[in-house]
Amino acid sequence: MKYITKYKSPNYNSRNKSIIKFIIIHYTALKNTAEAISILCNKRKKVSSHYLISTNGAVFNLVNDKFRAWHAGESFWQNFTDINSISIGIELDYNPFGKNNKFSSKMISSLKKLIIKLKNKYNIDQNNILAHSDIAPFRKKDPGKHFPWKSLAFSKIIPNFKKLRKDDIKVIENWFYINNLKTKKQQIIFVLTFIGYDTRNVNKNYKLYNRLKNAYKNRYLNGVDKMNNNLIYNTLIKHLHFLLTKNKINLLHNLMVR
Ligand SMILES: [Zn+2]
Repeated sequence: MKYITKYKSPNYNSRNKSIIKFIIIHYTALKNTAEAISILCNKRKKVSSHYLISTNGAVFNLVNDKFRAWHAGESFWQNFTDINSISIGIELDYNPFGKNNKFSSKMISSLKKLIIKLKNKYNIDQNNILAHSDIAPFRKKDPGKHFPWKSLAFSKIIPNFKKLRKDDIKVIENWFYINNLKTKKQQIIFVLTFIGYDTRNVNKNYKLYNRLKNAYKNRYLNGVDKMNNNLIYNTLIKHLHFLLTKNKINLLHNLMVR
């Protein structure tokens, strides 16, 4: 795939030998690609991303992958807090309140090609394709509730959770019970922690708890408008089961001991 390399951002520094593990998807919330380039390449703005994709599907490479671009800001995922050092940032020319308020099929097609290329090049796990709202759920909404995650799942770029059998659900619920995770809230927070979300302050703060659930809903249940605890819970169980079959139940135990 061809990149446009005419524009370069000065806003980067060294990764200090960190390995690229994650891809973070953003939207610009700006007017158009020209405005996005002018901001992402402006030294005073102190922001950047490795890639920017326009509505017509053009891919701009603003920062070389080997450098640490400044797109994530204060963030958290699986106990990592310096996400910029270990990720590639992709900005989409999209603004929920602008004329560019549609994820065009050309844009999504370019995005998929770019992600597949990066995944292969850096051996990035499909669980590590994340939204900015995953790693900063209390500050950020992008790429937003209209981003076509289902299309990425359909193309096998991100996981597609299977419908579970009753027995599978029972095993997990029994495990919750044995480990003293008795309430839905405890169970929901546990699974969100296991996935990688920042749950450090949500237990006692209702507002943060709701914001985190909302971030999860917008990513995994986009299309669902209302907050529905049961729906979120059911999706989280499928999500947990998907991760467990991959990562073995030992991880669960380690997390409980911590
Ligand atoms: Zn962002």
